Amino acid sequence: MRFVSFQKNEQLAVGSLIPDEKTVINLTGAGLPDDLSSIVEMGKKGLVMAEKAARNAERISLSEVKLLAPFPRPRRNVICVGKNYFEHSKEFEKSGFDSTSGGQTVPDAPVIFTKATTSVIGPGEPIPASSDPSGSTDYEGELAVVIGRTGRNVVQAEAFDHVCGYTIVNDVTARSIQQLHKQWFLGKSLDGFCPMGPCFITSDEIEDVTTLNVSTRVNGELRQKACVKDLIFDIPTIIETVSSLITIIPGDIIATGTPAGVGIGFTPPKFLRPGDRVLIEIDPIGILENPVK
Ligand code: MG
Repeated sequence: MRFVSFQKNEQLAVGSLIPDEKTVINLTGAGLPDDLSSIVEMGKKGLVMAEKAARNAERISLSEVKLLAPFPRPRRNVICVGKNYFEHSKEFEKSGFDSTSGGQTVPDAPVIFTKATTSVIGPGEPIPASSDPSGSTDYEGELAVVIGRTGRNVVQAEAFDHVCGYTIVNDVTARSIQQLHKQWFLGKSLDGFCPMGPCFITSDEIEDVTTLNVSTRVNGELRQKACVKDLIFDIPTIIETVSSLITIIPGDIIATGTPAGVGIGFTPPKFLRPGDRVLIEIDPIGILENPVK
């Protein structure tokens, strides 16, 4: 199922997206909670309830609703992995904006940081580059994993048992702020710097996540293109690492890293400017498109 969060007449709701028909089935109208985190917390029961509810629920044309991020306010910070594609790690080090590498292109262990929950915005919402005082706003198209089951010390072989689905995240970054503060939290957490969507797709819809391709276009120009199998630290390794130290909980969102081709990979850097449009595509999740203001 493809879950979306949406707003209609000021009302928040969760729906099931039927992309081919440009239709949303109103699951909240059929008795489910109006926030997707609560449905994810129900585990399998939530999915069964959604499937049942979808059969007779109200169908609304996509044109009549405003799509929000599937998780408009996650329960806690979005967990992210830095420098997780080799070519991107190289371009980041070369750019001079990486104040943490110590001359090492491939990290010994996954680089983990988080983005504030208040940075999340939905598809179509503007990325506020004009609020970045450093004028160095950059895009990072990424596959994000959504955790569906609590876990601590999860071993790699069982990692996917804790994954309930996927979405797309744009890990927007103010590069000069990332560089200045060394810790990446501030430069990656500005309000509006985490576009997410367009939907949350459940794991059963994806046969092999490692075959998915991530691509990013800015104003129609292809900037990033890579396959999830090229991650330096794969999804099981990321989950094993994070859960070896903290409890992962349903609704946790883990952005897995971005491929080469970000703005600072170019000379001179191609930072985002008001009027730009960023489009990230991961089939079959869909297209996450945001203008820049
Ligand atoms: Mg990133």
